[in-house]
Amino acid sequence: MRKLEQLVFDNTFARLPEAFHSRLCPTPLPAPYLVSFNPAAAALLDLDPAEATRAEFAEYFIGNRLLPGAEPLAMLYSGHQFGHYVPQLGDGRAILLGEIRNSAGEHWDVQLKGAGPTPFSRNSDGRAVLRSSIREYLCSEAMHGLGIPTTRALCIVGSDEEVFRESIETAAVITRLSPSHVRFGSFEVFYYNDQHDSLPVLADCVIAKHFPHLSDAPDKYVRFLNEVVTHTARLMAQWQAVGFSHGVMNTDNMSILGLTFDYGPFGFMDAYDPGYVCNHSDYHGRYAYKQQPQIGHWNLSCLAQALLPIMPVEAAKAALESFVPAYTERYRELMGRKLGLTQTSAEDMPLINTLLEIMHAGHVDYTNLFRSLSRFNSAAGEKNTLLRDQFTDRAAFDTWAESYRARLQRETGTDAEREVRMNQVNPKYILRNYLAQNAIAQAGQGRDFSEVDRLLALLKHPFDEQPEMESYAAPPPDWARHIEVS
Ligand code: AMP
Ligand code: MG
Repeated sequence: MRKLEQLVFDNTFARLPEAFHSRLCPTPLPAPYLVSFNPAAAALLDLDPAEATRAEFAEYFIGNRLLPGAEPLAMLYSGHQFGHYVPQLGDGRAILLGEIRNSAGEHWDVQLKGAGPTPFSRNSDGRAVLRSSIREYLCSEAMHGLGIPTTRALCIVGSDEEVFRESIETAAVITRLSPSHVRFGSFEVFYYNDQHDSLPVLADCVIAKHFPHLSDAPDKYVRFLNEVVTHTARLMAQWQAVGFSHGVMNTDNMSILGLTFDYGPFGFMDAYDPGYVCNHSDYHGRYAYKQQPQIGHWNLSCLAQALLPIMPVEAAKAALESFVPAYTERYRELMGRKLGLTQTSAEDMPLINTLLEIMHAGHVDYTNLFRSLSRFNSAAGEKNTLLRDQFTDRAAFDTWAESYRARLQRETGTDAEREVRMNQVNPKYILRNYLAQNAIAQAGQGRDFSEVDRLLALLKHPFDEQPEMESYAAPPPDWARHIEVS
């Protein structure tokens, strides 16, 4: 375990040519205080968790002091936002401190989000507010707990400095960890700026670090694209299966590693609704829940376009064509597992889809329904009243339950074994908007961050029964049914 000053930096991105980034230091903020610290993420850096109790900790992770070995920079990228190309984005408020190499040989980018203006800030303040920092912090760790690839979060440090949004809020910096912050847009910027020579430089850097098995392949770029397609397809399937909406699936928010990335107005669905739009600025529902797989595919086509200077067009097309089968297979497998099936085939899709349809019609809570489905009693004639009562159309449930019972007869093993299996894939606890909202409201009252820590601990183990936390599995109370986030 290391002290803060002993962390081992190995800054590979900083060694890329100047065109890739802009070097600068974070802008200090007054009187920083620790909001929350995540020991699980500290372990990724070999950082001694006791270091969080030092006064310097907040100074380092709000950007007032620089860790020895850090080479801070803002990364360049562009991207397609809501379907339109935006030529220059880049880190407008995030500063990459550098990469820490841990004792397992892993590299972790350490990025301060909200650390002040950069050359890419485009007249904005370069800040993040405490509210959105808490949301990203909790959600990235919740996704990790759910087994969904994501960036991680080390800590939040706050300051009473005012930040002007729709109302006056206070500033905070979240320290984000990721194996890479390279986005689809990191490639697009060089394609559209006619800096095609930079494309293989970036691709080689990403391949060397993250896809080293491809390094010597003669068609390494094509294979790299194929892997990005597969990772993204699988990520989309995981989002759909858990009922997660990202909210801003612009290509600058798409991780080249297929991680859930750049948390903003995300949301977990409460009642099942394929048309669920979590971002209230998304007027046309471009990023509605049901659209996500298609948008993932569309975003990959933007990436493929940007890579055309370094690969044959036919190869790029073939890579894109692998998206639908990769997604379909993974989604089917995940949904089958949610139903407790050990093997799922295309023939099972009507069973899955019918359940979703009657859930939609009855506004049934997505997470809780699947969690309670593990208690389905497959004995003939059993009414399964607790499940049945969650639906408005009971007759439709009875019909579906008959087909489910018939399908379960083709599984080996007992109901009890299936229950154990299902509880390992159907979470009991998710980061519902109202839970995050409660933690944010409490944080705003006299610096009480205990609810943030409580949620962090809860969501680390979303599949476990945590009896003292039972109320956190409840669907939203009336006041919170229509929380809007943008
Ligand atoms: P996002 O919607 O958070 O993914 O951000 C889109 C772009 O806007 C990125 O280039 C961000 O760096 C930039 N951006 C967002 N908020 C701010 C801010 N408060 N100050 C400067 N740049 C920002
Ligand atoms: Mg972004």
